[in-house]
Amino acid sequence: MKVLVTGGMGFIGSNFILHLHRAYPHYRIINLDLLTYAGNPANLEEIQSSPNYRFVHGDIADRAIVDSIMAEGVDAVVHFAAESHVDRSIENPLRFVHTNVTGTLQLLESARKHGVARFVQVSTDEVYGSLGPDGLFTERTPLAPNSPYSASKAGADLLARSYYETYGLPVIITRCSNNYGPRQFPEKLIPLVITRALEDREVPIYGDGLNVRDWLHVDDHCAAVDLALHRGVPGEVYNVGGNNERTNVDIVRRILAELGKPESLIRFVQDRPGHDRRYAIDATKIRETLGWSPRYRFDEGLKATIEWYVSNPEWWKRIRSGAYRQGDHGGTEGAT
Ligand code: NAD
Repeated sequence: MKVLVTGGMGFIGSNFILHLHRAYPHYRIINLDLLTYAGNPANLEEIQSSPNYRFVHGDIADRAIVDSIMAEGVDAVVHFAAESHVDRSIENPLRFVHTNVTGTLQLLESARKHGVARFVQVSTDEVYGSLGPDGLFTERTPLAPNSPYSASKAGADLLARSYYETYGLPVIITRCSNNYGPRQFPEKLIPLVITRALEDREVPIYGDGLNVRDWLHVDDHCAAVDLALHRGVPGEVYNVGGNNERTNVDIVRRILAELGKPESLIRFVQDRPGHDRRYAIDATKIRETLGWSPRYRFDEGLKATIEWYVSNPEWWKRIRSGAYRQGDHGGTEGAT
């Protein structure tokens, strides 16, 4: 099987490619990534010279590049590439529409033209909007995105759905809650707190810190995407989440306690505009129909994640200094 993974130099995409490479050594994997600020070639250094792995440097919205890869005979697409940070979407929404909407559309169109047998659209629970104190998102919850990021992901999901309904492209959509784990860019809450605390710097928390997220270890998300790829039913949506609701301030306190750092590092800052209050996922469908269940308990997953950042300071220090964007990325330039 030949699998095109998009956004494989990012957090979840790189963890997924490492998983796929380990679990299916005979698969051929092509990673198409633009290497934006969020793409880090160091994430896949360990398989860089594997004969079954190839990196192509390019934009998913560049149809010529996408077509040239699909023309090689791609069996499945697993689409992670995205602009993914809500704060950046508030600053620059156009970039989010370019990648998340136009880029997804170019991939869908090329997949349709080349008869791809499976297209996994990796989405997010943020497309459902915000919950009150009770209730869970199910696959039937209406889409009500509140940020330019989630609106652009919702747009991509609706295009993906339309390619199934209109053209019969075998699209499967997954919507996962917040991920944590190794190789997450340190602008996101958990690696931000760990790396700042390690350097005894202030740790900012938005608003009152009581926003609730449903946390899932990235390996558990990758296992769910693997199931969706191999056993998901075309046209279906699968919610993925770990029943792990925590407030942001609780997460920050746990990390500080684990690292032996004082809570005086915490600084409450002005809230993000349109900040969703609570996300929580009902994952009954993927559990019951595909047999998925998370392996990590939150406490042990968080501890292992903290240990990873403690043991790999060069990884995040090279991001901090900007050095991660220089040098050989070990790939080919997409042909335009
Ligand atoms: P990330 O920001 O860490 O990585 C995104 C990757 O996409 C980077 O390698 C970047 O270089 C690449 N990219 C960006 N624009 C591109 C373009 N135009 N063409 C090609 N490559 C491009 O993101 P992540 O956290 O790994 O998220 C991956 C996917 O999972 C996203 O679609 C996101 O919406 C979804 N998701 C993320 C979470 C989470 O908690 N991080 C939760 C649910 C769903």
